[in-house]
Amino acid sequence: MVETKGSWDPDQSGASSGPIGEIRKHGTAASPGIAIGRAYVLDRRRLKTPKKHVSPEEVEVEIARFGAAIKESDIQLERIKSKLVEREGEDHFRILEAHQLILHDEHLVDEAIKKIREEHINAEWALRRTVDQIKKIFDAIEDEYFRERRSDIDFVGDRILRNLLGEDEGPVQPPPDAVVVAHDLSPGDTAQLHRAAVAAIVTNVGGRTSHTAIIARAHEIAGVVGLEEITSHVTNGDLVIVDGTEGLVIINPEPQTVAHFRARARREAAIGEALLANRDLPTETLDGQAIHLYCNVDIIDEVPPAIHHGAEGIGLYRTEFLFLGRAEPPSEDEHYQHARAVLEQLGGKTATFRTFDLGGDKASPFAKSLGPELNPALGLRSIRLCLTPQGRPLFKAQLRGLLRASAHGPLRIMFPMISGVGELREAKAILEECKAELRARGEPFDPAIKVGMMIEMPSAALTSDLLAKEIDFFSIGTNDLIQYSLAIDRVNEHVGYLYEPLHPAILRIVRYVATAAKAHGIPVAMCGEMAGEPLLALVLVGLGLDELSMNAAAIPVVKAVLRASTMEEARTLADQALKLSTARAIEELIREHMAKRFPDEVLKVS
Ligand code: PEP
Ligand code: MG
Repeated sequence: MVETKGSWDPDQSGASSGPIGEIRKHGTAASPGIAIGRAYVLDRRRLKTPKKHVSPEEVEVEIARFGAAIKESDIQLERIKSKLVEREGEDHFRILEAHQLILHDEHLVDEAIKKIREEHINAEWALRRTVDQIKKIFDAIEDEYFRERRSDIDFVGDRILRNLLGEDEGPVQPPPDAVVVAHDLSPGDTAQLHRAAVAAIVTNVGGRTSHTAIIARAHEIAGVVGLEEITSHVTNGDLVIVDGTEGLVIINPEPQTVAHFRARARREAAIGEALLANRDLPTETLDGQAIHLYCNVDIIDEVPPAIHHGAEGIGLYRTEFLFLGRAEPPSEDEHYQHARAVLEQLGGKTATFRTFDLGGDKASPFAKSLGPELNPALGLRSIRLCLTPQGRPLFKAQLRGLLRASAHGPLRIMFPMISGVGELREAKAILEECKAELRARGEPFDPAIKVGMMIEMPSAALTSDLLAKEIDFFSIGTNDLIQYSLAIDRVNEHVGYLYEPLHPAILRIVRYVATAAKAHGIPVAMCGEMAGEPLLALVLVGLGLDELSMNAAAIPVVKAVLRASTMEEARTLADQALKLSTARAIEELIREHMAKRFPDEVLKVS
């Protein structure tokens, strides 16, 4: 992260200077847009209680852990108390004293220890059960004030649990229009923040293709990630400007800075509105080549915005979000009902459901059964998990649910993270098994259902000519393809500078896959984040892609770019790019070309 202070220069708004007094931080532009709001510092990750039985020898260890967590909680409460007294006066610490009393209450402490000792369970589990037991007693109290003390028991229980798990604490309900400042956010948290109608998200960690960034774009929440230490520079209530287009965060801006950014936000909104007016026009180049623009969707709430922005359908539905934040995996019927509801909202447009892609940065209890992995991105995730004996029933439940939904509208199934023909055949065989089961049950489904796969690994790309013979369509997932081809962890901000979508290797792979697909007469899409960069739309089409699937807000701009261009122009640009040796040279070529053709402000609005 780069920090700058300096003299005011409004034209340098995205760069390095500003009035003395305000602090500017530069990170990775994760989701475009300008937001001005009050900071809400969030460092709380949702807690899960690990539950396990322990051997008789481990009982004393668990009790000691529990004792240490109580002690640590006490120290923390004492620290908060003295801070509050300093700032607000004596009255405000009464509630913390009450929490300290609960912390040492025998009903909590002795009971939890008794459970560990007698039932041979770990400290977290014993704590959870004791807290639940105490809360039940409070439930029965008629007096409302005392009944509401349940939340204090929860508060104390959470604090002890966090200390047992070694996690930090913090609140989770930001007010509307807040700028959420966090170390990191789980995909589930980010989706929830959308519901809270926050204005922007800024985080210490993450890159442009981390799921925090993807979800922020999907919900049109301005976002800057990879700021490294933003949480230590911002306090709750600080006024913050977030420029998600430039990757800039300004803390406690001066009034003239606020005025400047407000004006820019108004201009960008006006351009966005103008582009949206074209949403019902077809996406085709000036020489008549149709390109299909689809939307990436993570949760059903994102379907209406996709339609609103003119998507032809859903090119990537990340179904793993159905599995996050819950104790039991979704049943076949849930998959069916969910997919059917999506199709109903789409009203005849196609939905491409990717089978669940858990693991990696989308951690889930269902993907954790084998314990922690040293290299989760290279581990038992995604389709690999689905093909194991543990994952298979979950996979089959999903496939049957999706097949049943296919009777209600155009639905495509897509497999993620396929490494080669062997794995593809295995996945397809399971799909056939599911079809046979449904036939035996007399359940209808679309017998001609299209089945596609993602190209996310070099091994799949290099065998795309073989894979194309056995599948209906490809979709290139550049988020992972770049990660695996360039050996860059997509969520590690320290190597973010090496994450180059325009690396010659990536462009060659895209061309190779598109050529293989064409030779076998199957369509090829791209659904990685790269597909939603208006600057890259021409090059990608020139490389041979038929379909681009992206966040909803990017669709109108990409459409405008393609409608104003010819295929010849696109192919020439792609051919020129393929001749260059570095990502930087390729980017310069594209920027120069696009700058001549389109106003800068248009390309930024998405
Ligand atoms: C990709 O890898 O490009 C992709 C679209 O899948 P995800 O981002 O969900 O891994
Ligand atoms: Mg992927």
